[in-house]
Amino acid sequence: MTLFTVGPVEMSPDVRSTGAIHLPYFRTRSFSSMMLALEEELLGLFGAPAGSRALFLSGSGTSGMEAAVAGLFDAESDRLLIVNGGSFGQRFVEIAARHRIPHQVLTVPFEADLTPELFAEFADYAATGLLINQGETSVGKLYDLKPAADYCRRTGALLVVDAVSSFLNDPLNMEAQAVDCALTASQKALALPPGLAPLVLGPRALAKAKDTRQPLYYLDLQAALRNQERGQTPWTPALAILYQLETRLAGIRERGGLRTELEQRRGLAAWFRAELKRRLPAFRIPAFRKSNGLTPLLTEPYDARALFESLEEEGLIITPSGGDWTHRLTRIGHMGYLRPMHYEPLLDALVAWTEKEKR
Ligand SMILES: *Cc1c(COP(=O)(O)O)cnc(C)c1O
Repeated sequence: MTLFTVGPVEMSPDVRSTGAIHLPYFRTRSFSSMMLALEEELLGLFGAPAGSRALFLSGSGTSGMEAAVAGLFDAESDRLLIVNGGSFGQRFVEIAARHRIPHQVLTVPFEADLTPELFAEFADYAATGLLINQGETSVGKLYDLKPAADYCRRTGALLVVDAVSSFLNDPLNMEAQAVDCALTASQKALALPPGLAPLVLGPRALAKAKDTRQPLYYLDLQAALRNQERGQTPWTPALAILYQLETRLAGIRERGGLRTELEQRRGLAAWFRAELKRRLPAFRIPAFRKSNGLTPLLTEPYDARALFESLEEEGLIITPSGGDWTHRLTRIGHMGYLRPMHYEPLLDALVAWTEKEKR
């Protein structure tokens, strides 16, 4: 079986074997020092400005989204602008609604990129926070963060970026891009098991978190920040995944760091898209700006769900889409432990399937 999914994804052999270690107890000095080292390394990978902090929340990516929304903003004094171009934008909207935080929604049409013009309508809306998914994974779109950061500069809003699927796939530098809070999840390009949600808070977000009366207990950012000061967590952390994170980050370092990681992903996505165009011209790749973590494919006149099911029987697991996209859009992941050679059987199977469907 090969996973061409967008999380969980193929894990490297060293990450997998780290998952089998004899787990030590964690309220110890040696665990704390590993956590502090992980924090420092993660801050570097996010390009976080001086004075930033990183937390290791337990949960899938959505726990990080909820911790950011409810830990930084409250129903009484905040109002949000939320960029929504798919199901992960919609998730931010639903989290804000659940916590009764006033919000407006900037809808991004399917074929469109995020442009400054889309913000014009909200010029007089003094938001205190802007929520955006850097990568809208449901359609494979990568937003330009510049118009979002410009809006925040004008209004003073805090910029919160869900980088769950873009981290390690697409460039992100919190300092250069004026991002106040960024989050990811272990099962995407980090290529670890699901269950860990790293969250980075820049200086402005740290100050805001102190001011916010937040309703969270398990995901209490203040408790997590206090504990992480000494390399600890308020509750039992996702211990095994933290050791696997240590292995994964060492691997990134040894292979040449973030630049090499991003370059590999960019190269893989570009190679795959060129092969697809050459061998499967019937499938259309949308023209919008795309993440290097996945390739979205419009399959019409073929049925995307039937394609997924047929490939699944051969152990080739691509990513099905939901809702309105079920039969029209599929997504092929480039995250995790995959090289061009892994895609050859997939490309062959795609060609064979379309030929069979034609008949
Ligand atoms: C995967 C993903 C999430 C988190 O989903 P979980 O299933 O909770 O891990 C959040 N945002 C984006 C953009 C994602 O791709």
